[in-house]
Amino acid sequence: MEVRTCKECKKMFNYLAGPPICPSCKDKLEEKFQEVKEYIRENTHDGITEVAQATHVSANQIRRWIREERLSFSEESGIGIDCESCGKMIKSGRLCQSCKDKLLGTVDNMLKGSESIVEKKHREAARMRFIDK
Ligand SMILES: [Zn+2]
Ligand SMILES: [Zn+2]
Repeated sequence: MEVRTCKECKKMFNYLAGPPICPSCKDKLEEKFQEVKEYIRENTHDGITEVAQATHVSANQIRRWIREERLSFSEESGIGIDCESCGKMIKSGRLCQSCKDKLLGTVDNMLKGSESIVEKKHREAARMRFIDK
């Protein structure tokens, strides 16, 4: 067992996993999360800064929740965070759709060294047809 100092209250606690926050601070943060979620639902036009001020949660923490896809602003609010790759505004997560696609394309290209999944499926389908005859 590992003992760490809580990032929030500086108390020592038995560290298990995740962010270095003690169980009681984690509970408090979870309560805050529900509060923020509720607030955003009722105040759809507030920006991150306004939400942070109203709920007494740091803007960074709110952004973190958005990155973790736990929190997102409504479509019509026009509020979001920047794509980590191209800076385009996104609603939640780390990357916009086109960067996600690009990333997937890169992974696909890496796999192509042997055989792409699509090609493999085609080959298998062809073989099935052959067996059918
Ligand atoms: Zn703590
Ligand atoms: Zn992007």
